[in-house]
Amino acid sequence: AASLLSLEHMLLRARQLRGDGIAIIDDERRVSWNELIDRVGRLAGGIASLGMKPGDRVAILAENSARYIEVYLAVPWGGGIVTPLNYRLAAGELVAIIEDCGADILVVDAVHAELGVELAARTDCKCVVYASPEPPARSEWVAYEDLVRGAQPARCTGRSGDDVAAIVYTSGSTGQPKGVMHSHANIVAAGFAVAAGYQLDEDSVSLISGPLFHVGATGLAIPTLMAAGTLSILPRFDARRALQRVEQHRVTVLNGVPTMLRMMLEHPECRDHDLSSLLRVPFGGAPMPPSLLKELLTVMPRARFLHSFGMTETVSSCTMLPDAWLREDRRAANKFNSIGRAMLGSEVSIRDPADKDVPPGTIGEIVVRGPCVMRGYWNKPDITAQTLRGGWLHTGDLGYLDEGGFLFIVDRLKDMIITGGENVYSTEVEEVVYAYPGVSQCAVIGIPDERWGEAVHAIVVPRAGVELSEAALIAHCREKIARYKCPRSIEIRAGSLPLSAANKINKPALRAPYWKDRHNGLV
Ligand code: ATP
Ligand code: MG
Repeated sequence: AASLLSLEHMLLRARQLRGDGIAIIDDERRVSWNELIDRVGRLAGGIASLGMKPGDRVAILAENSARYIEVYLAVPWGGGIVTPLNYRLAAGELVAIIEDCGADILVVDAVHAELGVELAARTDCKCVVYASPEPPARSEWVAYEDLVRGAQPARCTGRSGDDVAAIVYTSGSTGQPKGVMHSHANIVAAGFAVAAGYQLDEDSVSLISGPLFHVGATGLAIPTLMAAGTLSILPRFDARRALQRVEQHRVTVLNGVPTMLRMMLEHPECRDHDLSSLLRVPFGGAPMPPSLLKELLTVMPRARFLHSFGMTETVSSCTMLPDAWLREDRRAANKFNSIGRAMLGSEVSIRDPADKDVPPGTIGEIVVRGPCVMRGYWNKPDITAQTLRGGWLHTGDLGYLDEGGFLFIVDRLKDMIITGGENVYSTEVEEVVYAYPGVSQCAVIGIPDERWGEAVHAIVVPRAGVELSEAALIAHCREKIARYKCPRSIEIRAGSLPLSAANKINKPALRAPYWKDRHNGLV
């Protein structure tokens, strides 16, 4: 018998609980659970009528909306594999990803309709377009609502368990984005863990404002739906609109990076809004400065802040630090900068380069095991075998565990600098540089050095109107950290540092010019 570990079964339960209750609200529509499940079934049938067979990939390129969620659910419902695309990528990069996953169908919103037609032509895909009002008929595309209207609801395909439901591309911070295969069981397991960790239930209302092509957003949206909660969806993050939505929809869960929370807090309209409905605010990507937390609590008095850590390869968060450890009375326990402990179902350990577990307090590679860990990378058996060796996901992140199982992240393995045999963690040096007044952006990288193998090099962008001196910055570092960790050279740059499509500083691009003669530009 087919496993009941499937997204479809989770949604059928949610409809039973909520029926005419609201499942999704976006800028245009309020969709009830009954309507959502009806439309998802029909859309699955409609997409199947375009030729989707079990295991076929269907790509989506769109801003966030209720329809995005419909596609995300309908494709696996009909037996296919949904593949979200990052709209910040250039057309050529999107073509490469569509070709890599081998999608035959591409769904786009009105904003991306023209680009969608171009991409579909270049990759020999069928293009499906949605918009409100409905887009005019064109020979180059199929109208989404025609698919929903014309089709019979798809019958249960029985795909579940280890069958792949989604391929989600990584952010490309350390190289080309890799397609991560999420099975039904992976998504369901991650959903259970997140629902337990964030205490989601049918009264939860989650604000989705980060892009749904990234696990940061789906990692909250899908567990909320599994818990029979409600999604309030913004097309993209906007501090003012996020504040309005929290009040208007009595949002209970909001996730994001601390910078987003700061933008909401510092918005001139912040205090005009009632944010007291917020109960859980999971955040990640960076620690929460104590001063920011204190201020946030004045406007979100009932909120519990949770630091979570995860990656595309774990579907959603796999570790979490509960709010209590961020509060002043536990400050002495020194967990404040921890990314938490393993969430339900996951195990976390630290390994040395020989893949042996290391004792608490020792830095090594963070490894994760559990049912949320991906099936593998699409089309990349070698990297998959390497990454999942011994049954553990090797995250490529460096960190340590303390005695209580609290995990601390130190740097990415690929960003660590080895100079004269000593390990230097780029993030540690960056933190020291950032503490110098007038620094707007900073990246610390290793550059080739005859004597030391690699030398620590910092690239620094000053705040507008500030003059920074290389010598003064190096002197500042020497006061704070060991000599071997201090930058040997600093480049002061105007403008801004290159960002990846996920808005992370693109260190491979910064390193490339220094190393191009050595590894054919591959670093
Ligand atoms: P690529 O794998 O293509 O190089 P990426 O690793 O940036 O890109 P994602 O899967 O989007 O792609 O990001 C996961 C990574 O983000 C983690 O491996 C980790 O380095 C970082 N990260 C996630 N959560 C946190 C956190 N709470 N604090 C610090 N870093 C985090
Ligand atoms: Mg990664």
